[in-house]
Amino acid sequence: MKIGFAGLGSMGSAMAGNLIRAGHEVTVWNRSPDKCAPLVAAGAKQAQTPADAANGELVMTMVANDAALEEVVFGTGGILAATGKASHISMSTISVKLSERLTQAHSEAGRGYASAPVFGRPPAAEAGKLFIAAAGPADVLALCEPVFAAMGQRVFTLAEKPSAANVVKLGGNFMIMAAIEAMAEAMTLCQKYGVEKASFLEVLTGTIFNAPVYQVYGDILVNERFRPAGFTAPLGLKDMTLVASAASSARVPMPILGIVRDHLLETLAQEGDDIDWSAIAGAVSRNAGL
Ligand code: NAP
Repeated sequence: MKIGFAGLGSMGSAMAGNLIRAGHEVTVWNRSPDKCAPLVAAGAKQAQTPADAANGELVMTMVANDAALEEVVFGTGGILAATGKASHISMSTISVKLSERLTQAHSEAGRGYASAPVFGRPPAAEAGKLFIAAAGPADVLALCEPVFAAMGQRVFTLAEKPSAANVVKLGGNFMIMAAIEAMAEAMTLCQKYGVEKASFLEVLTGTIFNAPVYQVYGDILVNERFRPAGFTAPLGLKDMTLVASAASSARVPMPILGIVRDHLLETLAQEGDDIDWSAIAGAVSRNAGL
């Protein structure tokens, strides 16, 4: 299939690479063009603008945040300026509000649009093992089937309304942060009583907390492996801010959200931007005097 891919960060590069390996005809675009080189070497074409990448059947976007996606879609040379009619599949973690705006704008332009944010960090993206939460018109999602199969291990089809996938992704990221916070607090408590973090984790993941979120982040917390970041604290703060905005609009109190958001701010202030979001564990242990 002829596919455009815009946004070649830690996630996008890996995802586009899997599309090339699966035999698709891929055209890549990135704001900093140097990141296109490895994919061009692997067989991709390089586009000069996002619009140039939107002349096949699908154009996927995997950029940092709302502002980036607005630029890629509505900016000069953006997807909506393309002459071709590729359906746009937005895979970034973005606000519910922007997803609703994109739905309307694409519909007015006679272009298909679906949301398909993902769960899984860069190693899962490399391995084609992402979980994809998809929502959008059935014909657009049907077109995506072979493409999603090259990038993910499972697709959850949620609704016709694209923003359904975005709210599920935001709810999921909030739960990851809450799990990291809870694990960090319990590990700190154990440490203060002389129990190693690794021993605590072994018991919990060996019993009723044997889920990937505890295994993956538990290992990072035990080894304090916060750099290089797999998912940066600024992106985590972006997501918790998007959760807060969606919660305010719908009048949903989320008290735990305030705690994890403050710990992210503390981590960013103390450690800088190049750290993993799970480094909120450092804020928890510092506050306990460790
Ligand atoms: P990243 O490595 O920081 O890459 C960000 C990408 O966005 C780069 O291609 C960057 O271009 C582009 N970008 C930023 N601002 C832009 C702008 N104004 N206009 C055009 N492009 C712009 O981020 P990532 O980790 O790949 O994450 C990408 C998305 O996936 C985010 O929405 C994130 O929340 C979500 N996500 C990440 C993970 C994870 O574990 N990393 C997991 C699931 C979902 P340049 O190269 O020019 O800077």
